[in-house]
Amino acid sequence: MVKINNNLNNLKKNNTFKFLSKSIQEYKKQNPTKKILSLGIGDVSFPIIKPVLDEMIKAVNDLGNINTFKGYGAYFGYDFLKNKIIEEEYSKYNITNDELYISIGAKSDTTNILELFDSDSTVCLISPIYPVYEEAIKLSGMKIEYLNALEKDDFLIDIPNQRYDIIYLCSPNNPLGIAYKKEYLEKWIQYAITNNSIILFDNVYEPFIVENDVCHSIYEIKDAKKVAIEFRSFSKKASFTGVRCSYYVVPNDLILCTNVNELWKNCVINKFNGADYIAQRGAWATYKEESKKAIKNNIYQYLENAKYLKKELETLGYKVYGGVNSPYLWVKIKENIPSWSYFEKILKELNIIVTPGIIFGCDNYIRLSALAKKEDIIKIVERIKKYDKKK
Ligand code: PLP
Repeated sequence: MVKINNNLNNLKKNNTFKFLSKSIQEYKKQNPTKKILSLGIGDVSFPIIKPVLDEMIKAVNDLGNINTFKGYGAYFGYDFLKNKIIEEEYSKYNITNDELYISIGAKSDTTNILELFDSDSTVCLISPIYPVYEEAIKLSGMKIEYLNALEKDDFLIDIPNQRYDIIYLCSPNNPLGIAYKKEYLEKWIQYAITNNSIILFDNVYEPFIVENDVCHSIYEIKDAKKVAIEFRSFSKKASFTGVRCSYYVVPNDLILCTNVNELWKNCVINKFNGADYIAQRGAWATYKEESKKAIKNNIYQYLENAKYLKKELETLGYKVYGGVNSPYLWVKIKENIPSWSYFEKILKELNIIVTPGIIFGCDNYIRLSALAKKEDIIKIVERIKKYDKKK
């Protein structure tokens, strides 16, 4: 008899974003007149900026013209975008066209990459964790081992003594909102070199980095090209959450094998027909001078939201982490209740949506996203203040 992939049964059924969104939809249905505001799901609130939109419209028209039509072929991305990304972001680390891949989102990139490794590998996750990695590892049948980042250590774990094949690192971090400094990442690179391990470095929130001592790219660190694969995305930076365009670097120097890009390209070609032309043209236009200015301003607004939220919550006595080099705040729940109960309680009592920490594997906290609209954030703070006063 044909059998189902039993790993599917290992995926979480509750405690997921899908479950969260179902709970919210049900509450909204039962309470249609309530004005619910969200700091929950990390989607953006600014639309796509005009120069990028104009470029995508031009690209749509290209597809309707016999002379400019584009079909299959750019499996790893169009050179116009790859060369632009290298020029703007990666030439300083000597990353080449051969090592850069354009794709349709870091969610799939950070998980599809597991196919590069033996299914017998052991993967280290630092909890709290972006849960997508965790479920993909379970699907692959690989082993997961967790290291818990604790508040007493400012959520920075010590470099382990034990060896893992693969380590996911995310900086700036979702959900913690913290970002790793160079000295810290240097230790991880040293660890990976000593142990013949590979670091999967999720760097999608890089555009939010403002502090000088935070590492922008893992390739700032000496020898990182031997042990690290880096992932970036246009999702949060350019409001491409609904457009889909991302990129990642597989260095030729990786200790994994000498022909890693030859093998990986062969895998990609067999499974993927490339990111769409319209999205790539839009992504290319994010590097125009006027786009850079507009994007910088949007990110500044999100970070101002985060700063404001952090300040107000701290004044109310909440312990708040992150929110400086990231749009996320990791907030300790004051009451001694599980994060799902807290989520339900403040949805009912304050009509505010937050993300319960348990979704990321850590129960005493909630994650807030400052990617919401400024006016909503101001209203949310007013509601929390009133609520705290009443107690
Ligand atoms: N990695 C992290 C840490 C994220 O928070 C997200 C999205 O929220 C992603 C990857 C997915 O990004 P994309 O929209 O490029 O798939």
